[in-house]
Amino acid sequence: MASYYVNDNAQANGDHEVHRDGCSYMPSVANRTYLGEHAACDTAVAAARKRYRQSNGCFYCSRPCHTG
Ligand SMILES: [Zn+2]
Repeated sequence: MASYYVNDNAQANGDHEVHRDGCSYMPSVANRTYLGEHAACDTAVAAARKRYRQSNGCFYCSRPCHTG
């Protein structure tokens, strides 16, 4: 299990990126929301979509859940 966070600031394309704890691209504490402990990025992204409809896995730390 790992801690996952969603970026409260959208990317240029409108995506809110989901990151696993320890990612180099983790947003600062002020700009992220904790999503809980997840075994994989798919459930973390599902949790993020309850908050931000347009959520997407980070290309670097959650590539299986990254689209587009
Ligand atoms: Zn990441």
